[in-house]
Amino acid sequence: MSSSSAIIEVAIPVPLDTTFHYAVPAGLVPSIQPGKRVLVPFGRRTVTGYILDIACTPRDSLKEVIEVLDQEPLFTREELGFFRWCAAYYLHPLGEVLKAALPAGINITGRRRKVCDAEGEEVPTEVLTGGKRVRTETFHLAASVEGDGTPVRGKSADILAFLRLHGEARRSLLTQTFGACYAQLARLEQRGLVATEQREFYRDPFREEVVEHDMPLPLNSCQAEALRRIRESLDCASFASYLLHGVTGSGKTEIYLQAISHVVEQGGTALVLVPEIALTPQLVTRFRRRFTCGIAVLHSGLSDGERYDEWRRIRQGRASIVIGARSAIFAPLSNIRIIVVDEEHDSSYKQSEGFRYNGRDLALVRGKMEQACVLLGSATPLVTTWHAAAQGKHAYLSLPERVRSLPMPETELVDMRGRRGETLSCRLQEAVGWNLEQGGQAILFLNRRGFATYVVCEQCGHVLNCPNCAVTLTYHRGRQRHFCHYCDHSVPAPSVCPSCESPEIGLLGRGTERVEEEVAEMFPNARVGRMDRDTTSRKGSHAAILKEVEEGNVDLLIGTQMIAKGHDFPGVTLVGVVSADASVHLPDFRSAERTFQLLTQVMGRAGRGDRPGRVIVQTLLPDHYAIFRALNHDYAGFCAEELDFRRDAGYPPFSHLAAVILSSTSKAEAERQADQAASTLRRLRRELKGKVEILGPATAPLGKIRGRYRWQILLKGTRRSDVHSLAAKFRKTFVPPAVVRVNIDIDPVDML
Ligand code: ADP
Ligand code: ZN
Ligand code: ZN
Repeated sequence: MSSSSAIIEVAIPVPLDTTFHYAVPAGLVPSIQPGKRVLVPFGRRTVTGYILDIACTPRDSLKEVIEVLDQEPLFTREELGFFRWCAAYYLHPLGEVLKAALPAGINITGRRRKVCDAEGEEVPTEVLTGGKRVRTETFHLAASVEGDGTPVRGKSADILAFLRLHGEARRSLLTQTFGACYAQLARLEQRGLVATEQREFYRDPFREEVVEHDMPLPLNSCQAEALRRIRESLDCASFASYLLHGVTGSGKTEIYLQAISHVVEQGGTALVLVPEIALTPQLVTRFRRRFTCGIAVLHSGLSDGERYDEWRRIRQGRASIVIGARSAIFAPLSNIRIIVVDEEHDSSYKQSEGFRYNGRDLALVRGKMEQACVLLGSATPLVTTWHAAAQGKHAYLSLPERVRSLPMPETELVDMRGRRGETLSCRLQEAVGWNLEQGGQAILFLNRRGFATYVVCEQCGHVLNCPNCAVTLTYHRGRQRHFCHYCDHSVPAPSVCPSCESPEIGLLGRGTERVEEEVAEMFPNARVGRMDRDTTSRKGSHAAILKEVEEGNVDLLIGTQMIAKGHDFPGVTLVGVVSADASVHLPDFRSAERTFQLLTQVMGRAGRGDRPGRVIVQTLLPDHYAIFRALNHDYAGFCAEELDFRRDAGYPPFSHLAAVILSSTSKAEAERQADQAASTLRRLRRELKGKVEILGPATAPLGKIRGRYRWQILLKGTRRSDVHSLAAKFRKTFVPPAVVRVNIDIDPVDML
């Protein structure tokens, strides 16, 4: 029996579906509060847990809380309700959901570590117990400059003189200037000559940038109507969801800005989700131009410390607008009145590792909980969203035309059948040449990076595969190696055939690197740039390329889907799609939809300035509906065909899915457990009597990744609750051996 006077319920980030109870020693009772972290014994370890609740039923033999780590709760009751919902729906342990939702920087406790300060210099900082605040020490002169009268000599005197001159300084600066001076500082402080202060500081990720403010644009009639309807529901402060369907360049962003401005004027806050914020710096700039209120930007380029700073600013109510990628849906923002999901169709809203959630779907859930307005914007909404809107689940707002009456680009299809080996057809070559003469910029799109996508022995036909993954290696000429695009494994090139040792290695297929080279040869006077994951891996390199294009220093930009995302390049008058076919054949029921979206997005880069745009698409599949509907700017036609296919095949929106993925480094064990899992599922289905189809087990399309063999079982049912209860029951029932990992993916987006 413990002597304590309170018991708390704690979530712990371990893969177990339960919460835990701990006794609180009397001394800690005043500081416990739901939402704070605690240090607790767990097995033989000490772990950080999250207080969920203060329980009233006394229990025997509970372990005791060691320490309460926070001064203030990290999440509110409302947020906890949301996190509980996420844990239950995505079948993921609450402790891990909380850990994923809170910024990683928060978990560093009581350790010294290095961070960069505002000038980019490294300063030692101290994270106080509980990891609550990042502070840096500054030294300044104390009130009594005279001290105790004893003269100060040597290094100490220099330091004192320096501080007199500069007023105050960080420890790092003093160490830089005077070398090791810890002892001197301590003595000066003892004598009352200097004082230290630990000051909290924030690193603003966009601090260097100075922007000019702009004003709301006068809206065209479609925009005005859309905004009017959004404001209507904002004014009744209840949940409402909208699909804002507007072709690229139709002024959706302007509507987000004006709707949010309405919210901010009334003291509310706004959450803006974007697919990959690093790829959309322009959007952030537009917000910064428009608003003077606090904007927090959560992007993937932030260090843990910077992310934590932003999180704190939001928690303290110092930001009225939060812009971020999928995980921003967990931002500690209160009084949310509007949630915008820009490019709602983008698959990067789905987190497919660890805690598998979908930021776009959660926007609707959180919006409902907060009684906020949710705005799903896209030029190519998911067919499921479109269908839901048609059924009245979302209000439908349409912007069918580009602003300023800019025409949609003229499109042309080039049938590449029977033209093996040609990178650019004559048509596309001519068009590029003409465009260059006219002084326009062009984009050439290709969805494969590297130089050659297949590396084949010309003697024996052996194809170089990754030893860890079931995929071929891609030759990267710049780095003189063959790379696996899944695990980054690489071997030096040129190399001999591992099978017959012939040095005759053929390079087949083409990636962006090869297209760049060929195009540079074809157009020796053109300034050619390339944008893909290889050229943008360094911090800031992506923005640098965008800037070059924007300033007109690039005539021809070659790139992967990275160039398709949301940039407004007024100088681009020609878009050439070198190949659009790679994504059509993926063994995934969304492959046609992805192809349509990608093509539409890429085509949308053309003609956004004053001159009309032109698009040329090369394809081996001129009759595929995803391709010709995209070329005709025919979204509705595409949706109709796609929905027919989905209805026939029983895929969303006509069913709900959950995937069970088993993986193991042991091939035999993966297979055996996949069979076991399937029979467990079939048994549970009989017990639950729900109508769920169980497909598989089958090897996953990517049957091996990073050395793990993968099997899949797909659950499919017309009622969400049937699929969910079967998956949930399975999660509770099925216990695989330690060598096999089982993941459940609710509403999977990627079927590979
Ligand atoms: P989308 O988000 O649909 O691609 P944007 O909001 O980025 O479209 O608008 C495209 C361009 O048109 C931007 O440069 C924007 O400033 C401009 N724009 C938007 N609305 C208007 C308007 N009503 N009048 C004039 N220009 C506008
Ligand atoms: Zn060979
Ligand atoms: Zn690999």
